Amino acid sequence: MTRIGFIGLGNMGGPMAANLAKAGHTVQVFDLVAQSVESAIAAGCIAAGDAREAVTGCEVVISMLPAGEHVRALWLGESDGERGGQDLLAALPAGTLVIDCSTIDVDSARQVGEAARARGLRFIDAPVSGGVAGAAAGTLTFIVGGDAADFAAAKPLLACMGQNLFHAGALGAGQIAKMCNNMLLAIHMAGTAEALALGVKEGLDPAVLSTIMGKSSGNNWSLERYNPWPGVMENVPAARNYQGGFMTRLMVKDLGLAMALAEHGHSAVPMGALARNLFNLHAAQGQGSRDFSSIVELYLDKQDPA
Ligand code: NAD
Repeated sequence: MTRIGFIGLGNMGGPMAANLAKAGHTVQVFDLVAQSVESAIAAGCIAAGDAREAVTGCEVVISMLPAGEHVRALWLGESDGERGGQDLLAALPAGTLVIDCSTIDVDSARQVGEAARARGLRFIDAPVSGGVAGAAAGTLTFIVGGDAADFAAAKPLLACMGQNLFHAGALGAGQIAKMCNNMLLAIHMAGTAEALALGVKEGLDPAVLSTIMGKSSGNNWSLERYNPWPGVMENVPAARNYQGGFMTRLMVKDLGLAMALAEHGHSAVPMGALARNLFNLHAAQGQGSRDFSSIVELYLDKQDPA
């Protein structure tokens, strides 16, 4: 069994750490939010007073944080804009395996990975797909960038949290693949919301329409596994007023990362750019903290106050 330090116990990190503990590993956890730490203790993890204490004595350390600035602050010691950094790489003994599961910009992933290597540590970028339900069920997809040997070393632990484990390529490749995936996710979520709203306005039942499209050529993950229309599926954010899940502001972040990649390679991404505008508009209307499938509300008629 492995002693693991786990930092960042939000919608995703909480259930991921719980699955590692369930598999019998010793999981030392830290989050800035005390309630998240409490939930992790209830799931069998061990609370640490701070991030440094969480990684002490661990062979493997995992971070699951919102964005690149948080990851750089934790591992490299830069300020994340709100608080000072921690330079935790400096606290780790050589040979420790650092796994960052956050979805972050490629430059930050490479910067942290190279700094880790320079200190004799091992590092992989390992962003995930599968949502909160996948994190809870231990069925996530891991998309890994880094050395093949480090991927192989991480695999037994990743398998406690996920079902599909992919090595995308060298350092940063996990993030590139993840951005391609999330751009596509944003496009089919917005498209699914649009198609459902079109049918419902013409009198169709959203559940019946979802079943029909689900067995037809319009089928996709947003429709089948994460239906945005309230009342169509249980156990999805649409069934709980879009609480929990994948926040719109995080999707906006990911679409920004995809646009930066497109800029870098002069790639044409017209559908991604449109999706980014839609999710930006939705976030600007005060929806940043709600699950991204609430984009369906953009398509609903509002009452005319006059
Ligand atoms: P979240 O906001 O729910 O969780 C992030 C956690 O990090 C919070 O609990 C926060 O308190 C903690 N945190 C931030 N800075 C910290 C620090 N310095 N020390 C300790 N804890 C700190 O976000 P999430 O939904 O769990 O997403 C995490 C990452 O996973 C993001 O990069 C996101 O894009 C990605 N992701 C999310 C989903 C999803 O469905 N929610 C799916 C795939 C990937």
